[in-house]
Amino acid sequence: MIRFDHVAKRYPNGHVGLHELSFHVKRGEFLFVTGHSGAGKSTLLRLLLAMERPTDGKIILAGQDLSRISTAHIPFLRRQIGVVFQNHQLLFDRNVFANVALPLQILGMSKDDIYKRVITALDRVGLKEKADQFPNDISTGQQQRVGIARAIVHQPLLLLADEPTGNLDPRLASEIMGIFQDINSLGTTVLIASHDLALIARMRHRLLTLQRGRLIGDGEAA
Ligand code: ADP
Ligand code: ADP
Repeated sequence: MIRFDHVAKRYPNGHVGLHELSFHVKRGEFLFVTGHSGAGKSTLLRLLLAMERPTDGKIILAGQDLSRISTAHIPFLRRQIGVVFQNHQLLFDRNVFANVALPLQILGMSKDDIYKRVITALDRVGLKEKADQFPNDISTGQQQRVGIARAIVHQPLLLLADEPTGNLDPRLASEIMGIFQDINSLGTTVLIASHDLALIARMRHRLLTLQRGRLIGDGEAA
């Protein structure tokens, strides 16, 4: 599903985001990426989303070579990816249903298909009953679950999350991880960037550890 082959990312100002990074991820895997601030986690996610291009090496995602992808093809690539942010970035003037429907409206999907998909996505995160509520009327954990529903509503092959539990207390963080687990068990590959080592250790999944742009660990979290 993902192959990084000696990938380096140097920013125009000379900062090195990643050095000679190589790893593979199989379809259906669940993995974490950790490391201190500045280790290269966001750079890794931005490369996968083709928001940045590698300065060296090769990145293959679902058979597409991201080192050579044309700008015109980037929207097609992004349709295969869902992204969950730390600050979920919901629109507060739209209800839960409309927030989750947004990516499908952008794709020009029919109203019937949008309805079915949105309800399915909300059901996956346990929020079918909250479709008519507004983000301000639900809890922080529920808002984050809406962010996850929006990220999976177009049925991506790969779900990326950047510090998805960063603002949540440990109980809510575990709950959110349970949702990622459920999504993964239905076949979606899940990659989560996180600082939360205690939470990662409890999940017992593969963990990539970055330090100053280098991969210093790849194995089951202990
Ligand atoms: P985090 O550690 O939470 O991932 P960072 O503080 O490293 O966040 O980065 C936050 C944002 O600022 C990122 O989008 C990153 O691209 C940008 N950024 C980080 N370092 C620099 C830099 N030296 N110059 C310009 N932008 C940067
Ligand atoms: P993390 O997400 O693990 O905090 P980042 O990928 O944001 O790490 O940063 C890795 C390195 O790349 C840091 O030295 C950071 O300052 C640098 N960096 C990140 N984004 C930018 C950017 N847009 N411009 C310049 N340097 C950046």
